[in-house]
Amino acid sequence: MADILVIGGGAAGMMAALFAARAGAEVLLLEHNEKLGKKIYITGKGRCNLTNLCDREEFLAQVPRNPRFLYSALDFFSPREMMALLEQAGCPVTVQRGRRVFPASEKASDVTKALSALLRQAGVTVRLGTEVRALAVEEGALRGVRLADDTVIPARAVILATGGCSYPSTGSTGDGFRIAAEAGHTVLPPLPSLSALETEEAWPARLQGLSLRNVTLTLRRGEKVLYRELGELLFTHFGVSGPLVLEASCHLPEAAGGLRLSLDLKPGLTAEQLDARLRREFAAAGKKQLRNLLPALLPLRLAECLPALCGFPEGLTCSQVTGPQRAALVARLKDLPLTVRDRRPLTEAIITRGGVSVKEIRPGTMESRKLPGLYLAGEVIDVDAHTGGYNLQIAWSTGALAGRSAAENLKGND
Ligand SMILES: Cc1cc2nc3c(=O)[nH]c(=O)nc-3n(C[C@H](O)[C@H](O)[C@H](O)COP(=O)(O)OP(=O)(O)OC[C@H]3O[C@@H](n4cnc5c(N)ncnc54)[C@H](O)[C@@H]3O)c2cc1C
Repeated sequence: MADILVIGGGAAGMMAALFAARAGAEVLLLEHNEKLGKKIYITGKGRCNLTNLCDREEFLAQVPRNPRFLYSALDFFSPREMMALLEQAGCPVTVQRGRRVFPASEKASDVTKALSALLRQAGVTVRLGTEVRALAVEEGALRGVRLADDTVIPARAVILATGGCSYPSTGSTGDGFRIAAEAGHTVLPPLPSLSALETEEAWPARLQGLSLRNVTLTLRRGEKVLYRELGELLFTHFGVSGPLVLEASCHLPEAAGGLRLSLDLKPGLTAEQLDARLRREFAAAGKKQLRNLLPALLPLRLAECLPALCGFPEGLTCSQVTGPQRAALVARLKDLPLTVRDRRPLTEAIITRGGVSVKEIRPGTMESRKLPGLYLAGEVIDVDAHTGGYNLQIAWSTGALAGRSAAENLKGND
């Protein structure tokens, strides 16, 4: 019998297995894919933004929901410790813009290789192609796990690290939510997070592929500002995407339809400054068509589209622009409105929001409050963060803490 079974060989599961084995436990890691860490390969566009070199408070500011749940896990295993672990395993790392940390090779596969080597050295047994269907529970006590072929593998403790349900082709199919619910856990409904947004308006499709830098995006529910940030936005065939939109999506309420987005295309200028500039430029441009002047202010494709969005007649010249029309143009440049229809589907989201309620997990050990001997780690838990390496660090930290706690607890029971 293994001391500890780990379900899921992703970021959290590998770390849990490593820390449990290093603490002296016999560990069996069960993964239904044909290889470990399949999702890690696609992180950071194949470069793996594996953590963020910031302190704990800065880190927690990037976690929109339940940040305090992560205090102990981050104290136990911090971004610096993750970087040191990889360096010691022969995978040097590099810190880039925004303190994002990548493997120096910029190959996500090097992270998985380094972790796989550490698992071998620590004596973890890995069984690939093995799907866990349920926990084996007898008279309220955890006995091990039941596989898809109905065999039962006994164990003294189980760590559930099955991830969320975004990008299911990587193996994260949401099984853990069902498994945890069967064990009596509350599972908050999975929702796409770090997700692109579909808009009611069709015009973004005309600008598909156009990326705007240094614009301010504001997300509002009624008058309330839910999110406002300066950054980069991308127009797509369905609406909007890019870093600003992905981050804004973390701040959407469950029902996102009908929420207002507003783009400030000229955040460096006040409306008055912009109006004065337009007045000067229109006077100098005379009979030049407005759409030919605007590229001085905006990317060409957007400049061509803006007069129509303001409701101006085709071929309007600068000298024909009236005062109210100039005011309307300034208003559009400072507040280009869009209406959210929905998030893109969960299968396309970078991360799953929702999952096992943090109220039912002991933050100091990651042990279930519902079923002693069950530990949880990674995206299966209801915590998610902005982009920047935070989500993987959540997996590393909660995994490490779950692994060490499970092993230490068994020692205490010997
Ligand atoms: C496109 C993309 C890019 C990303 N880029 C970044 C980035 O650069 N930086 C960052 O911090 N985060 C990034 N993320 C998020 C990050 O990948 C996740 O937060 C992280 O992988 C979660 O780790 P996990 O171990 O909890 O879950 P997962 O990595 O999903 O691992 C879960 C594992 O469990 C296995 N499993 C599931 N069910 C069963 C079962 N029944 N039996 C056996 N095995 C099972 C799965 O096959 C999988 O291997 C990205 C995500 C995506 C989709």
